[in-house]
Amino acid sequence: MILLDGKIASAAVRQQLTTEVAGLKAAGKRTPHLAAILVGNNGASETYVASKVKHCEEIGFASTLVRLPETTTEADLLAKISELNQAPEIDGILVQLPLPKHINEQLVIQAIDPSKDVDGFHPASAGKLVQGLPTFIPATPYGIMLMLEHFNITTKGKHAVVIGRSNIVGRPMSILLSSNSQYGNATVTVCHSHTPNLKEICLQGDILVAALGRPEFVKADMVKTGAIVIDVGITRVEDATAKKGFRIKGDVAFDEVAAVAGALTPVPGGVGLMTIAGLLKNTLQAYYQRNAG
Ligand code: NAP
Repeated sequence: MILLDGKIASAAVRQQLTTEVAGLKAAGKRTPHLAAILVGNNGASETYVASKVKHCEEIGFASTLVRLPETTTEADLLAKISELNQAPEIDGILVQLPLPKHINEQLVIQAIDPSKDVDGFHPASAGKLVQGLPTFIPATPYGIMLMLEHFNITTKGKHAVVIGRSNIVGRPMSILLSSNSQYGNATVTVCHSHTPNLKEICLQGDILVAALGRPEFVKADMVKTGAIVIDVGITRVEDATAKKGFRIKGDVAFDEVAAVAGALTPVPGGVGLMTIAGLLKNTLQAYYQRNAG
């Protein structure tokens, strides 16, 4: 079994970006700049945003973290986004999800200038993805594609099964794997909570992407021998013996699936790190596009 180690694959992406940013700075160019907005005090969101900001700094990007209280109104958040949309030094804007219940997420996503939409969640970005046009690919599916590329995994002609159809993971992942591209050209089955015979379908997958958010849902008896298994899930599971009081679990029962799979991503240390790599690449792409315009 090959461990698809996100630490190794993401470090390679970051190394390449670090060199590129150093080159821009040496040439006297402006520094690429990502702005992240965090509303409220969700523990997991705080961790994700802190990690994104840290990685920006490590590769030489400028970053701005806008922290807003849980009580922030939708109007105030939209005003902040408008300000960042207009700020010439800001290349990419991300709003960490989920947002507090009183804020309409779709409205917020659609308020981000598509030219700065480095999370790739804006309908304009999603529409371009569907049509195979250049765009910002949502960071998690993009990171998975970078992982497939790093480990040179053949997808052409394979049957890929994706569990989950969300706009941020499952749906774009299924589009990318079925696209006419080097790490696409797979035949894709998308599964969701209304899929009957899920186990039988999963067993047909040469590639299995688990993005449903149910800890250790995918067991060994659902996985074809030798399959490439990508575990997207991140769930905090309470555990009094853990220092933080919880453990991070993926959607795949790692130990038993490792005995069957041909390759498998760990959680943590897999797709999560690749997601940040995808975000950083999108930010640099936004920078180049804005500088070219
Ligand atoms: P989501 O919006 O809740 O979507 C979950 C999808 O899984 C839905 O399409 C749902 O079907 C399907 N599903 C749920 N239970 C199922 C079941 N028993 N059988 C078959 N399908 C089922 O979640 P998400 O935002 O896509 O995230 C999925 C997981 O990935 C979460 O654990 C999340 O934390 C994690 N995640 C990780 C990263 C990363 O960087 N590694 C990034 C984003 C998300 P319906 O559509 O029918 O409801």
